[in-house]
Amino acid sequence: MRTSLDFAGRRPPWPERTLGSPWAAVAALSGIAGLFILLGHDGRRVAQMLVLLLPLLCWLAWPLRSPAVRCLRRAAVSLWVMAFALDGAARAYLLEAYQAAPDGALVLGAAANSNPREAGEYLAMHWRTGLLWCLALLAAGVCAWRLARGADGRARARPSRGAVFLLAGVLLVCAAAYASKPWRRLHPMVFWTGWAQSIQALRAGWADEQREREAALARARTAAPVITRDGPSTVVLVVTDSINRDNLALYGYRRATTPRLVAYHRQQGDRMVVLRNAWSVDASTLPALRNMFGFGQPADDGGTPPQHLLALARAAGYKVWWMSNHDDIAIEQQHARLADVVDLVNRTPGRASASLDGELLDCVQEALEDPAERKFIVVHLLGAHPHYSLRFPAGNNPFDDHPDMVEAQLIEEGRSAWVRRFRQEYDAALLYHDFVVSETLQLTRTAGRSNEYRAWMYLSDHGQEVGHGTDRAGHSPATESGYRIPAMVWRNDRPPAASAEAALRPFRADWTGWTLADLLHLRWDGQHPGRDVLADDYRWEPPVLPLRVRSFTD
Ligand SMILES: [Zn+2]
Repeated sequence: MRTSLDFAGRRPPWPERTLGSPWAAVAALSGIAGLFILLGHDGRRVAQMLVLLLPLLCWLAWPLRSPAVRCLRRAAVSLWVMAFALDGAARAYLLEAYQAAPDGALVLGAAANSNPREAGEYLAMHWRTGLLWCLALLAAGVCAWRLARGADGRARARPSRGAVFLLAGVLLVCAAAYASKPWRRLHPMVFWTGWAQSIQALRAGWADEQREREAALARARTAAPVITRDGPSTVVLVVTDSINRDNLALYGYRRATTPRLVAYHRQQGDRMVVLRNAWSVDASTLPALRNMFGFGQPADDGGTPPQHLLALARAAGYKVWWMSNHDDIAIEQQHARLADVVDLVNRTPGRASASLDGELLDCVQEALEDPAERKFIVVHLLGAHPHYSLRFPAGNNPFDDHPDMVEAQLIEEGRSAWVRRFRQEYDAALLYHDFVVSETLQLTRTAGRSNEYRAWMYLSDHGQEVGHGTDRAGHSPATESGYRIPAMVWRNDRPPAASAEAALRPFRADWTGWTLADLLHLRWDGQHPGRDVLADDYRWEPPVLPLRVRSFTD
């Protein structure tokens, strides 16, 4: 590429040359792209996108002599600006229509799932909105093309030293942005290429997952499970995320994080068993759920996976619900889609998603009011999954007002200020969680048909380290905090024979399926005695964890 700079030329008067038409064009083009960026992104993202946008626009300020190269540049810059505009428009459209991000499970799933006919139907329904966006993009495209003419070699302008420094500074910031992977990934061309690949991968994976689910249902039917109890029954399972029992007042924590559950426990007496010594055997969600619904059993020697609790329940005649505040394709494909009714309320992927668990309560009520005779309702909460501050309504943190005993102890143990801050937010998340969990219990007790057998079980997939054993916060495979979970069972028919004693038994979450099978009154071939924590013949076997646990009963 031949560029032409006239360094011998007279220094042009400032600012006519340096801030003249090329720079004004850069500003105007940034404005056009910026408008769409603002519609489709928020917060820090807007600034990140603008920085990613800049480098090619800066090229406009560079005088080019060759008309062919100038034409090429004009096309490249226009396309570049339009890529950002299209990205913003697509995101804004999805946000407006579905409160969803394009890489959320909802959109990915819908896009991967659509055939041309469905796409046509969709367009027939939504063409008006589509047309408006197209017109806006067309106008932006025309403006971009007119503005992207750029500096011409005949200008013989030598950029002032100030302009060169400014340009160098801007390009340096841009280079830093492009060097960072999380930033780079936001670039429309990178993002949407990756997006298209995700769709392909999803389609490929589904072919298998769909087969796996059908195989699970077939295995369950072969086992011929039966329900040993007459009459209608409803069992609710609440699985939450990242709750460490050491932070629940119900388990003796010194901050009042669970006033409602404490009151319930007092009021319900023996009907509610709080398992004091509950442990997960996994420190992250996916393996924890696989174990929970797969009875803690590995695949057999031939590679056949274990029975899946949801498949067994369905094969026995239960209507199964899966409602979730998670946005996770793997969970959806491996578990949720085994249910008859699937309700996923969270539309934004990743840790920054801010949908509160309380959003699910309406779904719980609806399911409880369903006329089916036998219902198994799985409720999957975000619990206190990081970021903790997004897990409770903004401003509802009673633990950050004044130093208390917990704070004093953390200081004494040398925990840093940021970990102490995380602990306050974590505890505030638990307080909100207490409301959601006790509401699910309240609904289980009272909503829908009366005079039927009902049971409710609640547990966390794994624990969380928030300055308990080390000076850090998050998932924690290497400390006990990563595995110390709450677990409790309520049922309205009869208290388990020895509920006071059962409450003190050590419990492992990968055996949850056996307790649930009993709550569901399921019987089938291949049941494993001794693993239902509430049964008389319970036989504890310590799980193998990647760390040494001092005692499973402390
Ligand atoms: Zn988790």
